[in-house]
Amino acid sequence: MRPAFIRGKWLSRTLELATGLGRRTCSSRESGREVRVRFAPSPTGFLHLGGLRTALYNYLFAKKHGGAFILRLEDTDRSRLVPGAAESIEDMLEWAGIPPDESPRHGGPCGPYEQSKRLDLYHVAAQALLDSGAAYRCFCTPQRLELLKREAMRNRQTPRYDNRCRHLTPKQVEEKLSRNSPFVIRFFLQEGAQPFQDLVYGWTQHDVASVEGDPVILKGDGFPTYHLANVVDDHHMCVSHVLRGAEWLISTAKHLLLYQALGWQPPQFAHLPLLLNKDGSKLSKRQGDIFIQHYVHSGYLSDALLDLITNCGSGFTENQMGRTVDTLIQQYELGKTSTHSALLDLDKLPEFNRIHLTRWIEGTETRVQLVGQLQVLLKDTYKDLELDEKHIERILLLRKGHLCRLTDLLSPEYSYLWVRPSVTREQLQCLTSEASKVKNLVVRLLQENDSGFTLETLNGELRKQLKQVKDTKYSSAMKLLRVALSGQEHGPSVAEMLLSLGRQESIVRLQNALPD
Ligand code: GLU
Repeated sequence: MRPAFIRGKWLSRTLELATGLGRRTCSSRESGREVRVRFAPSPTGFLHLGGLRTALYNYLFAKKHGGAFILRLEDTDRSRLVPGAAESIEDMLEWAGIPPDESPRHGGPCGPYEQSKRLDLYHVAAQALLDSGAAYRCFCTPQRLELLKREAMRNRQTPRYDNRCRHLTPKQVEEKLSRNSPFVIRFFLQEGAQPFQDLVYGWTQHDVASVEGDPVILKGDGFPTYHLANVVDDHHMCVSHVLRGAEWLISTAKHLLLYQALGWQPPQFAHLPLLLNKDGSKLSKRQGDIFIQHYVHSGYLSDALLDLITNCGSGFTENQMGRTVDTLIQQYELGKTSTHSALLDLDKLPEFNRIHLTRWIEGTETRVQLVGQLQVLLKDTYKDLELDEKHIERILLLRKGHLCRLTDLLSPEYSYLWVRPSVTREQLQCLTSEASKVKNLVVRLLQENDSGFTLETLNGELRKQLKQVKDTKYSSAMKLLRVALSGQEHGPSVAEMLLSLGRQESIVRLQNALPD
């Protein structure tokens, strides 16, 4: 079906619909029944925080409205593809707990989900635009375009194509084609782009034709440019709402002209304000720590990262720490998205992680996951160390609320939990002359109580027992025990150490380190 083009003017939407000229493949979108949103990154790099936020808001919007969340890879810029980025982007969404319903990996009703596999659709659309006169072949050489650019720069103007090939006659075009002259296809930008209502920024108008030259929509290599490909795909994938970064707001006028020229109903647009560092500077990809992989490898929980990202004042009535994805879905309101840039305070991430790690340790299923993860980490760090699940679980429960990251447990200050420290008697002798008495009291306490202590009861008992050592202050006795158990003067309470290590191991360590 051709778009309607009469004497240089596009038919109005109403007239077009009334005459049935529009091409309609997505009745669900047009009837407004189904929400379908997409995250459309280019695999020219790995997923970063800005991308994760766009994906997250799409996910929240889809789930809130019982719709579908699509991952589409915009891989048409072949020269900039980064090996492994495509797979990694999907891995990261899965890691983050916001998996797409339709994607390159999982397929779906509107696939394929990589633009490089959908070239036929762009060719059909480009041909329809050529046929209706909404697009034209441009034979300008790279040299000519370069000259235009230089001239503009010299005159301190923004470079733009001068639309020269708009005016080629059919005969001239035929002649160039018969000589096999290379060409691209450009979209004929009509003057007077209509305003549109962005769901975040409100009424927006950008008369794109007055500031830009006609854009290339199909390149010489047969690949589409972003503008054509995203319009064609959003249409064929029945996308109902486009939630994307505000950097695309200005391009939307161009996209709407393309929808109009193709006779398609556009989706609704919602542009998300930029995500910046807390000082307002640009999140730079060069810092390395904006890539999601960095957070995975540093042992952060996805819940903490998502929670932090949504706490920059957009999409929610109030900021609140500790929200899970389910809570985010419930509370998310697109209408609450502000137009101010969102300032991300990454220094707060450890605290967000502490809160979520505490919740994970409390949850039975999540705790099992943490135990498994820690077992793997310990095996890596301590050369095939095999530890009992119950032992690891006990340690997690005891350290709950104190740990910011699971990986903290691999730091030297916690090594005593996994390997016996080497403590010399000389190290301890200076602490008290009553070391042997202290040891015997605590060993007996442990031996005589196999019913198990809580932190509280053990603390109480220690205090009671150690009153019997007259010449040693309680704090010195504690220091002695702490060094004997862990090789360290600082760390968790002695009661916690004893409970973490368990009765048997604690007794062995005390016997080894302290004199009889
Ligand atoms: N490929 C574009 C990007 O990576 C997608 C923009 C859009 O969502 O339309 O930003």
